[in-house]
Amino acid sequence: MQNKCAACGAAALEPGFIMDSGQSARGFTAWVQGELERGIFGGARLMGRPKYVIEAHRCTQCYYLNQYAREQV
Ligand SMILES: [Zn+2]
Repeated sequence: MQNKCAACGAAALEPGFIMDSGQSARGFTAWVQGELERGIFGGARLMGRPKYVIEAHRCTQCYYLNQYAREQV
């Protein structure tokens, strides 16, 4: 993982993640590999797609969120 902000270059990142508080959510957001495809009810098709936890590291200098998708869920 980079330890410098992609926006301003400061080495001032603090770890965090983006919360998902929706019903039956696991509490965090995930990145899904492959283009978005919708099922007949409009929801995203997720079967068989690799998913990764989105980490969002906040720069304490410019407040940019540096996001990473490293850990598969
Ligand atoms: Zn920054």
